[in-house]
Amino acid sequence: MNQSLRFVATFWPFKRGTNEANGGPPSGAPDESAASFAALAAALPDPCLVLNRLGIVMVANEPALEIIGSNPLGEHLSAAIRSPAVLEALERSSSSAAPARVDYELRGSTPRLFEAVISPVIDAGRIVATLVLLKDLTREQRIERLRADFVANASHELRTPLASLLGFIETLQGAAKDDAKAREQFLGLMRTQAERMKRLIDDLLSLSRIEMSEHVPPTSSVELSQVARHVADSLTPMARGNGAEIAVNLDSGLKVTGEWDELVQVVQNLVENAIKYASSGKVIEITARRAGSYAELAVVDHGPGIADEHLPRLTERFYRVSVQDSRARGGTGLGLAIVKHILNRHRGRLSVQSRLGLGTTFTIRLPISDINSQD
Ligand code: ADP
Repeated sequence: MNQSLRFVATFWPFKRGTNEANGGPPSGAPDESAASFAALAAALPDPCLVLNRLGIVMVANEPALEIIGSNPLGEHLSAAIRSPAVLEALERSSSSAAPARVDYELRGSTPRLFEAVISPVIDAGRIVATLVLLKDLTREQRIERLRADFVANASHELRTPLASLLGFIETLQGAAKDDAKAREQFLGLMRTQAERMKRLIDDLLSLSRIEMSEHVPPTSSVELSQVARHVADSLTPMARGNGAEIAVNLDSGLKVTGEWDELVQVVQNLVENAIKYASSGKVIEITARRAGSYAELAVVDHGPGIADEHLPRLTERFYRVSVQDSRARGGTGLGLAIVKHILNRHRGRLSVQSRLGLGTTFTIRLPISDINSQD
């Protein structure tokens, strides 16, 4: 017999035929019901209480004891769950002999939201007990909130360039209708806004594609140094255009299990950030080396650095140290979120070290797949 079963079964104090006035099962109800309720409650993963007809707690399983924090057995439900809404639901369920549902918020250092289902147990046309089942909705509520925030942020990000496009179109149809010089200028600005929307949509699609495949581990073999070299080569023109140089220092023998395109995107996002945010005239270094059973790739810049308080939040979607600065440099606020999700899929990790005025180092770590290769 497990702990909760022993615990709850001992507190059912009724005897056959003597207990009805105390709210216990009516005469003739089998005494085994107490043990059955306790066994049933102990088998449930969610918090569960069983009350007698007077609302006294007769059975509580381990998850229920955990959230109540004290021993509720023999007490009225109102002492265990201090919520007028739950008590009102108990009354409703008793008078209608039907289940009642109500939300119940457990306050404390980390508040939790439950749905309480209060359900009468009916035997021979009479309520013999009441089940109180609690379902923890905290995680669902958090996910729902994140989803709502994400939709609000994405819509806002798209609406801003769209509003400015509409403004230019209006001007071109009205005041600047016959002004060739203004038209030329406005078309250039419109192109910038349309490109911004395109970048945002591309990033949103990348993110959703990666999230969908996040639970499917990659199977191909990729040499991380080749990924780094490929990115360095393709981003050198962009770096030079910003007055920076890319320097590489890459060891070979860094085979990881991964998706080439996704790993290219990780390194590309990090190097593009270094180019965007690090001051011109500086060198961006990409290094790749072996660290035990891991391949470690670092992108080092000597730019302005990032203040400590921002570091834990950089991989949140749409989190930017300065929204204006990011927009001015063509950022969407999704680059590092994409990096994080790709690395999750590859069982890798991202870390960042930064010192204001000195620069930033983003490091990714991936398990080496060919563990015996030493070259
Ligand atoms: P964004 O599209 O805005 O660049 P990211 O998710 O790639 O979005 O990066 C989030 C934020 O982190 C950026 O807006 C910027 O404030 C900061 N950041 C990223 N990389 C660097 C870097 N190398 N140096 C300074 N700040 C950086």
